Amino acid sequence: MSNASGTLYIVATPLGNLGDISSRALEVLSTVDLVLAEDTRHSLPLLRHFGITTVCKALHEHNERHLARALCERMLAGECMALISDAGTPLVSDPGYVLVRTAHELGLTVSPLPGPSAAMAALSVAGIASDRFVFEGFLPSRTAARRQRLQVLAGETRSLIFYESPRRVRDTLQDMVEIFGARREATLARELTKRHETVHKADLSGLAAWVAADVQQQKGEIVLVVAGAESAPAAANALSPEAVLDILMEELPLKQAAALAARLTGARRNTLYRRALRLREEK
Ligand code: SAM
Repeated sequence: MSNASGTLYIVATPLGNLGDISSRALEVLSTVDLVLAEDTRHSLPLLRHFGITTVCKALHEHNERHLARALCERMLAGECMALISDAGTPLVSDPGYVLVRTAHELGLTVSPLPGPSAAMAALSVAGIASDRFVFEGFLPSRTAARRQRLQVLAGETRSLIFYESPRRVRDTLQDMVEIFGARREATLARELTKRHETVHKADLSGLAAWVAADVQQQKGEIVLVVAGAESAPAAANALSPEAVLDILMEELPLKQAAALAARLTGARRNTLYRRALRLREEK
């Protein structure tokens, strides 16, 4: 046995279509000493499907804190391990954060095997600006907390990605219509890579009505991608307070120009007034 520490591999697995597993993922899952899976009842059939017989142990939100240190100590002693989740990329709304942090604290190598993730798959087909985006994961399940979170996000100009439960998708879309406005563009991406894959883009009110009218759209696994808020139109406050003052002074008495420039830009009225006096003296 070598004295070198082992590696922790973070391995993405398919969202539904088994053809999306990577050849590197298969190689690593076959050769590590232990596969850590969110739910072994879910992952063992996947591993067996690919003829992988590596020992598999459950690591989920309820035991991760308790097990992380002992697992990392085994890797320090030379074992290699792979973490997988039920579907997609571990740690993306899935367990693994405590384990990865502990591995870093103990100086272990943590190596990714990238692959499917529902958030990226949905964004790639949403037809909504993808140059800047925010991944919000799941919204709170309670109505008041969910609406409060949406209020906080209402002014966000980057595109928004949400994971959503099929039981709540109708209510969430209705809340979004009220809080983000009916005209915002949004895409529902459901059952990606599976038989009933659906990608539907509309404005929020259209999407909410479409989902409400078809119970099929309230089933399965769902990602919502919502366009960000329009950025504030170029306004007077895009100019510096001094520049606004200079323009207003051309048309208005000094006191009025300073007061208006202060209101438009949020700068202090007295400071602007002193500047206005100085400018007049210099003329
Ligand atoms: N780690 C996973 C990933 O990388 O996407 C996400 C895990 S999270 C617990 C599960 C959520 O991901 C689902 O409720 C759904 O919102 C989304 N999801 C997973 N698979 C999906 C699919 N095939 N189509 C659409 N959304 C999916």
